[in-house]
Amino acid sequence: MSDQYYGQQPQFGEPGQGDYGQQQYGQYEQQHQQQYGRQQYDRYEQQHQQQPPQQQYEQQQYDRQQAYGDQQQHQQHQQYGGDAPQQPAPQQQFGRSSRMSESSLRVVWVYPDLLSTYGDRGNALVVERRARQRGLGVQRIDVRSDQSVPTSGDIYLIGGGEDRPQRLAAERLRNDGGLVRAAENGAIIFSVCAGFQILGHEFVNDLGEREPGLGLLDVWTVRGEGARCVGDVLADVNPQLNLPQLTGFENHQGVTHLGEGVSPLATVQVGRGNGTGDGTEGAWRDTVFGTYLHGPVMARNPAVADMLIKLALDVNALPPADTTWYDELRAERIAAARPA
Ligand code: GLN
Repeated sequence: MSDQYYGQQPQFGEPGQGDYGQQQYGQYEQQHQQQYGRQQYDRYEQQHQQQPPQQQYEQQQYDRQQAYGDQQQHQQHQQYGGDAPQQPAPQQQFGRSSRMSESSLRVVWVYPDLLSTYGDRGNALVVERRARQRGLGVQRIDVRSDQSVPTSGDIYLIGGGEDRPQRLAAERLRNDGGLVRAAENGAIIFSVCAGFQILGHEFVNDLGEREPGLGLLDVWTVRGEGARCVGDVLADVNPQLNLPQLTGFENHQGVTHLGEGVSPLATVQVGRGNGTGDGTEGAWRDTVFGTYLHGPVMARNPAVADMLIKLALDVNALPPADTTWYDELRAERIAAARPA
């Protein structure tokens, strides 16, 4: 089905004067490097890589050596070091080429009209905010379900939804094909709850039928027989992702099984997560992520937003950015989730 079917392809806005694009970010990095020297910058990166996870909440290091291999680690320095790359970066391990070739980070929020329960919109706001705090320009595009999903975004966010909107969203996303094409191009996709289920092979829809998903994650969802999974969640993230403990809120009937093509995103300490009884929460492969956590999850866990930004920029570290309010929210919600 053509892109026109659901209406006009939404356009990314032109970067405004206040927008700091990739070039400016490059300059920022250069200045940062001039100030501290390349060596110090490298040391700064290494130090943060050596810190235990709890201490590196502010500058989470995405451990590319583990997760993405040496090649990408090496390319990061080529691409965002002092010298601008002369050639486009070669295709990387997972088919992901460097995306930030345009002037701004392009954040696509998929189907706000159908999928945005429990303030999941906050994920788009937090990703945008965390990027801007680092002097990055951001073009955020909200793609309604009657529009085509653009294929040229850097980060795609898709939220939760009630059963019927979830079916409609899955149907439209399948017909549109934009999100799948973006994934094939190596886009970063972060999905929550209904969005997570839609990224899988199939889920059970509001009519009690098995509804095909997009097959972007090797997971499938059945309807849980027991009580709905509702409440606060605390979960330890897959160590490969090098993130602090996740706090979130879950509310779902679906139970999601993971295939061999994905790793669990996290292991629950409190809460149900995927609902399979094995403690797994969410799923992850390459640059595609799924979780059951609302909250919104990025507001409670800004390190997740930072991880996505680092993936988009293809860097291991970001300049520090204030987390005072996030820290307060985290502390409050973690305390609330822990059994007395
Ligand atoms: N409708 C799905 C379920 O109940 C997802 C719910 C949600 O996104 N909060 O499993």
